[in-house]
Amino acid sequence: MNKFTIIAGPCSIENEKQINKTTTFLAKNNIEYVRGGAFKPRTSPESFQGLGEDGIKLLTTAAKKNNQKSVSEIMNSSDLELFRDVDVLQVGARNMQNFELLKVLAKQEKPVLLKRGMACNVEEVIAATKYLTTDGKTNIVICERGIRTFENSTRFTLDLNSVLVLKKMTKFNVIVDPSHAAGDSEYVIPLALAAKAVGADGIIVEVHPDSKNALSDNNQQLSFEMFENLLEKLDKISV
Ligand code: PEP
Ligand code: MN
Repeated sequence: MNKFTIIAGPCSIENEKQINKTTTFLAKNNIEYVRGGAFKPRTSPESFQGLGEDGIKLLTTAAKKNNQKSVSEIMNSSDLELFRDVDVLQVGARNMQNFELLKVLAKQEKPVLLKRGMACNVEEVIAATKYLTTDGKTNIVICERGIRTFENSTRFTLDLNSVLVLKKMTKFNVIVDPSHAAGDSEYVIPLALAAKAVGADGIIVEVHPDSKNALSDNNQQLSFEMFENLLEKLDKISV
């Protein structure tokens, strides 16, 4: 990554129309990396769990049509074969310290996007990266996505300090997820701008064609219009 990288897409892959509409929209805006969850780490087992293997197929097919790269969360190392066409393997906040998963991902070639655990300090994030680098892996991206603090007016507390510390202490690119940090689409644009201003290497942001009716995280996903507004504003920040 030597420019500001934007990874965008829905929280969850829901159906073919939703993902195709999103990837086409993102391609028109020159977005190269498309995110979408197929295996979802939901707090409640009653919530939508994702489309699993079918979701992965929908995402990778839609991304390939537009020459885009796909990013999706892997929760279980036994699913690795299902992720054969996924370009970037995401380890979610809830699995940052799933060391057995990290050990398996260390032995494969694809880039790993490691999200900070919501209750993990920077030292623990760095320790987790060491599980990935034991066999010489270097294609790792760390993501600050907010931590749990006493503050509950937003979903999590975005720790932009960590971007500075992680960039100083590691050789990895560090990106920011303003969507999960804020939990509210209204706050996502300013936090994304702050991430760029502080020197992050990119952002991962949730975008949905009909965000209010999304099957997961419907409160925090940007509409297409908001996303275009974000791009315009990001262009004006130079670091
Ligand atoms: C996600 O990016 O889909 C996600 C679940 O985020 P996190 O692991 O940061 O909660
Ligand atoms: Mn989400």
